[in-house]
Amino acid sequence: MKYEPVIGLEVHAQLLTASKIFCGCSTQFGREPNANTCPVCCGFPGVLPVLNKKVVEFAIKAGLATHCEITRSSILARKNYFYPDLPKGYQISQYELPVCSNGYVEFELNGQTKKVRLTRIHMEEDAGKNIHDAHGDSSLVDLNRAGVPLLEIVSEPDLRTTEEAGAYLRALRATLQYLGVCDGNMEEGSFRCDANVSVRPAGTDKLGTKIEIKNLNSFRAVERALEYEIHRQSETLEDGGTLVQETRLWDEHREETRSMRSKESAHDYRYFPDPDLLPLVIPDSWIDEIRARLPELPAARRQRFLSQYGLPAYDAELLTSRKDVADYFESALKVRSNAKALSNWIVGDLFRVLKERKLDDQLYIENWPIPARHLAELVQLIDQGKISGKIAKSVFEALLDGDKSPQQIVDEKGLQQVSDTGSIESAIDQVLAANPKQVEQFRSGNDKVFGFLVGQIMKATQGKANPQRVNEILRDKLNPAG
Ligand SMILES: [Zn+2]
Repeated sequence: MKYEPVIGLEVHAQLLTASKIFCGCSTQFGREPNANTCPVCCGFPGVLPVLNKKVVEFAIKAGLATHCEITRSSILARKNYFYPDLPKGYQISQYELPVCSNGYVEFELNGQTKKVRLTRIHMEEDAGKNIHDAHGDSSLVDLNRAGVPLLEIVSEPDLRTTEEAGAYLRALRATLQYLGVCDGNMEEGSFRCDANVSVRPAGTDKLGTKIEIKNLNSFRAVERALEYEIHRQSETLEDGGTLVQETRLWDEHREETRSMRSKESAHDYRYFPDPDLLPLVIPDSWIDEIRARLPELPAARRQRFLSQYGLPAYDAELLTSRKDVADYFESALKVRSNAKALSNWIVGDLFRVLKERKLDDQLYIENWPIPARHLAELVQLIDQGKISGKIAKSVFEALLDGDKSPQQIVDEKGLQQVSDTGSIESAIDQVLAANPKQVEQFRSGNDKVFGFLVGQIMKATQGKANPQRVNEILRDKLNPAG
């Protein structure tokens, strides 16, 4: 029997606010343990939380950009559970009334537009972090992350393949990055994903047993874990077994999921409205103001790349799927305005290198092996006829990891294209003299030999001859009559 996967994703996006959600502590990553703490985020008795207005603004931004309804009057709720990294014994979150609901995310995949519905977006605080293996015999708690604001973005189970899941996550991340509300860094945990996946016999409507997978720290992990789990569930059913609703952990090293606990239900958390916080009332005027200041989003930028730069849809999609890549492209364009040539270098050669070095999901463009202005200069050298396309490939390789500009590399290695007629002619004469048979073949009508002769001339000039000049002069020499 063939099984169809049904996938829904829950994303936790850490917001780029300067301070935490209910206190004034810094959200800065990587500081000394417990440096970013105060009585509020440490859960001391008698303290009161105060909602950070910026968090609400970011939530509204995310909601508007994903076509959600903004809830005019919502509440914050306590989600009760015990864990050492949760000092209050509850997490402040939202339950019945999330700040945003009923939105969708649209993305392109294999030439088709796919729409994934969003159930809800709600605000909540992050928990701290337990460090278990610090001394072997003790566990430590770092509360720097406790109270850092998060958006939980829950999709409907609209995804059917692991590829769609990856594309959805990239599209959602791009939207949050464009909005400037989340940096999307999966490695540092500021964009985290849990996946709900079930399988059902293809062609049926009833949903199968839902399994939640946690601990997905990269796009690769999401895709690999989903593949593993779809396979595991299908095999189990195929063999006549049954699945239990549970939470499983992805083990990155063993490349498998394993059971963590049976899935808890909402009532296990005893949600109730947090009596320390007032209901959150959002006036229309505030929403209008935020809507008016929304930045250009991926879909609009893609459209602009099509119309303003005349790029093909494929290029525009790839370049705008990440804000930093689109920025890289446009900053290179400021130096040199050959849009299509620049795009070719980015989506071709540069993406290949990023993939080889596993940098393709990394967000720090400053870690990229070539600065935008160097790529722009490379295109400029080709456009000005100073180097050939072939030489440019070797200059590109030399640019990787170096500080030198393309012009410096060309000068130092003597790669400048030879365009003067005299030197090209003498190279052609030598090649023609060395290949009389091919010359004869060409003159008796075999046009294909022309390419061979051009190749020999390029070889004789170490690829430096201007290919256009070579073509012109060679044709003249072979057809003296014109
Ligand atoms: Zn604090």
